[in-house]
Amino acid sequence: MLRLTEIKLPLDHPVDAIKTAILKKLQLPSEELISYSIFKQSYDARKKTDILLVYIIDIETTQEKQLIERFKKDPHVMVTPDMTYRYVGQAPSNLMTRPIIIGTGPCGMFAGLILAQMGFRPIILERGKAVRDRTVDTFGFWKRKIEFNPESNAQFGEGGAGTFSDGKLYSQVKDPQHYGRKVLTELVNAGASPEILYINKPHIGTFKLVGIVQNMRAKIQSLGGEIRFQSRVEDIHIENRRVQGVTLANREYIPSNYIVLAVGHSARDTFQMLFDRGVYIEAKPFSIGFRIEHPQPIIDSCRFGDYAGNKILGAADYKLVHHCQNGRSVYSFCMCPGGLVVAATSEIGRVVTNGMSQYSRNERNANSGIVVGITPEDYPCNPLAGIAFQRRLEAQAFELGGGSYDAPGQLVGDFLANRPSTELGKVHPSYTPGVVMTDLSQSLPDYAIAAIREALPAFDKKIKGFAMDDAVLTGVETRTSSPIRIKRKEDYQSLNTEGLYPAGEGAGYAGGILSAGIDGIKVAEAVALSILRSVNHI
Ligand code: FAD
Repeated sequence: MLRLTEIKLPLDHPVDAIKTAILKKLQLPSEELISYSIFKQSYDARKKTDILLVYIIDIETTQEKQLIERFKKDPHVMVTPDMTYRYVGQAPSNLMTRPIIIGTGPCGMFAGLILAQMGFRPIILERGKAVRDRTVDTFGFWKRKIEFNPESNAQFGEGGAGTFSDGKLYSQVKDPQHYGRKVLTELVNAGASPEILYINKPHIGTFKLVGIVQNMRAKIQSLGGEIRFQSRVEDIHIENRRVQGVTLANREYIPSNYIVLAVGHSARDTFQMLFDRGVYIEAKPFSIGFRIEHPQPIIDSCRFGDYAGNKILGAADYKLVHHCQNGRSVYSFCMCPGGLVVAATSEIGRVVTNGMSQYSRNERNANSGIVVGITPEDYPCNPLAGIAFQRRLEAQAFELGGGSYDAPGQLVGDFLANRPSTELGKVHPSYTPGVVMTDLSQSLPDYAIAAIREALPAFDKKIKGFAMDDAVLTGVETRTSSPIRIKRKEDYQSLNTEGLYPAGEGAGYAGGILSAGIDGIKVAEAVALSILRSVNHI
């Protein structure tokens, strides 16, 4: 197969224009082209009067060898790389050892799926509820119909942190072995639209994610895996620096010498337990800030000009960075076009913001985190100090919001003028249970407030209206990534605890759904190889 890149066509091109472009590029007679498929579709919106679709196309042709020779100096014609996923091994049918996976976020789910596909029958332990029950709890809390449940919320429960999200599926991690393709393919097998395989920045949306998570669970179970909900791992047993098993909150002990720790960035009690048991943990940088909301049409018209509202382009996103005079960097985080700001706490008496959207992305506002990078030097340094720092900010936000899970908010105009907000303007914030207008300058350290005050007008130069008076800030955004790293060796095992495989976002090895899924696959392979070696199977 051959791959052609940088095939550019007008936004409203007819379907057969792709074939015409292929034949023209390769100077190929039509009968020599056996078939073609779109590998990637993105757009180039740099010229707003002439937005183009940009394709990467795979073709089958009778002339492959000749074309490779003829285009050997053309960087846009190449042999299609082999992206087939190959399992590293197969469990012997009489294998008694069963690996444990803690957590059913994307990392734990993919680790579980791959191990199950190789015949290892993993036991997957999840502190929260199955996704349908979790949805009732989480949406009930957001609508103030059900009390907040610290074990069943936006962070905890089947599907992990990204279940009620925009479901953005892109990542900047290097992926030479194409594990990302395996993640996307399995998501399609579980019910995601096949377009996620070729759209440049695919997203799934909350409601679809719920069904996909259920289908992945069914697949793991059909392959001999076991998934247990409301099974919080409360302790881990280590002897001679090797894991022996786990104890659940109900005191049940489950033995295993292979434990994948995929607990996400909010499992603060679990981090404390691991630290107390002597597992090596270190502090790592993360970011803090607010969510910002604008009317989506402002973003659309700035990014797409007269093409704003075009169905192929959809709701526009943005990515912004500003390097401040005080040495801090402010950047947009987890931007959700046409989405909602959500209450993402996992602890009683705290307020945390994040964003989600449905597949249609047709809510009135665009939202994004506007966050400032911080490092362990910003707080007293012990490995878990970042968690205490997050908790302090989240508890302060809870108080500022009136102590009932409403988020504190402020208009951008007031925030920049350093005066409290008393009422909303034209932009209605989407965060539920509710928003209390106040003065957000008390909610983050001074250096972060100064950095965001400098960044917003700078962002306005890139997106006209970004610093509009009526745009709304809500806070606080503290769960941007894990404040710790549970360091591992090259074989993916903990630096000082054999058989423990720290994985995904909580361990500091992923940031987002796709990269967490990829890390889950890598760790599953490492576990499989280690078990196979131990039974002399390789
Ligand atoms: P998690 O998804 O956090 O999963 C960890 C799981 O472990 C949880 O289910 C938890 O209940 C369980 N657990 C924790 N402790 C224990 C224990 N002791 N015993 C048993 N189980 C335990 N990323 C994107 O790429 N795109 C997006 O659009 C996006 N939007 C987001 C929107 C929101 C509202 C949130 C909160 C996050 C969003 N993210 C998004 C981030 C993304 O969800 C995470 O990066 C990803 O889920 C991390 O995967 P993980 O498997 O490492 O951990």
